[in-house]
Amino acid sequence: KRLIQFKNVSKIYPNGTIGLKNINLQIEDGEFVVIVGLSGAGKSTLLRSVNRLIEISEGEISIHGESITKAKGNELYRIRRDIGMIFQNFNLVKRSSVMRNVLSGRVGYHSTLRMILGLFPKQDKELAIEALKRVNLVEKAYVRADQLSGGQQQRVSIARALAQEAKIVLADEPVASLDPLTTKQVMEDLLRINQELNITMIVNLHSIDLAREYATRIIGLKDGEVVFDGPVIEATNDT
Ligand code: ADP
Ligand code: ADP
Repeated sequence: KRLIQFKNVSKIYPNGTIGLKNINLQIEDGEFVVIVGLSGAGKSTLLRSVNRLIEISEGEISIHGESITKAKGNELYRIRRDIGMIFQNFNLVKRSSVMRNVLSGRVGYHSTLRMILGLFPKQDKELAIEALKRVNLVEKAYVRADQLSGGQQQRVSIARALAQEAKIVLADEPVASLDPLTTKQVMEDLLRINQELNITMIVNLHSIDLAREYATRIIGLKDGEVVFDGPVIEATNDT
């Protein structure tokens, strides 16, 4: 099943810089795709255009046959609910507990009033605990997020995407600020949830070695264009 489809997608930033140039891609359900390329190649632009954090200039992106490019209001909101996002700097509310941060993945499922009052149903808390178990952090549930190590904070952000019940996870340089040992733990968590829950993973990395270790498919970008797209076995350091 074709999950994510890019048709003739280009992005030109307002200052004239080309972010993406005529991208045509299909990513299927359950793939673990790693996007590699030098700094400025367009990795972040590509990833952020999937959930429309960035508006593309030309072409169309569809998810499960629905155009996110043309979606408006509630439709956009509903498509985005299926897409979790993981950032290099974790994007957690530092002074809130781990539990609160994971629960924030549930916000899109409830009314604004309920969320202002902080009234998460019991079922959400169960989902959050379940998510924390998957990243081996359940014992940290009531610790403040900023008390955790970098690797642990990134695993909290993975748990937040799980609590969101995301079907696609976009991870933008998720290990760029982590040491090698912690990098391995975070990559293994991403791989495990991809395999166990069949969540589609699209991960930006600048290390081709790391890409080879975890990806089933590598997409190489250069100057906003796809210069390589294939299984890991064919990817070389020139990619
Ligand atoms: P990568 O993630 O591979 O480092 P990016 O997607 O961040 O690459 O950037 C692709 C190109 O778009 C680069 O030339 C970058 O300088 C440019 N770019 C990114 N964001 C902006 C922006 N907001 N305004 C103008 N140019 C941008
Ligand atoms: P893990 O490998 O389990 O992700 P670490 O080995 O980095 O975690 O950290 C071990 C312990 O030290 C953890 O309980 C964590 O809370 C604590 N810790 C690590 N780094 C920091 C930090 N920068 N600030 C506060 N506590 C930290």
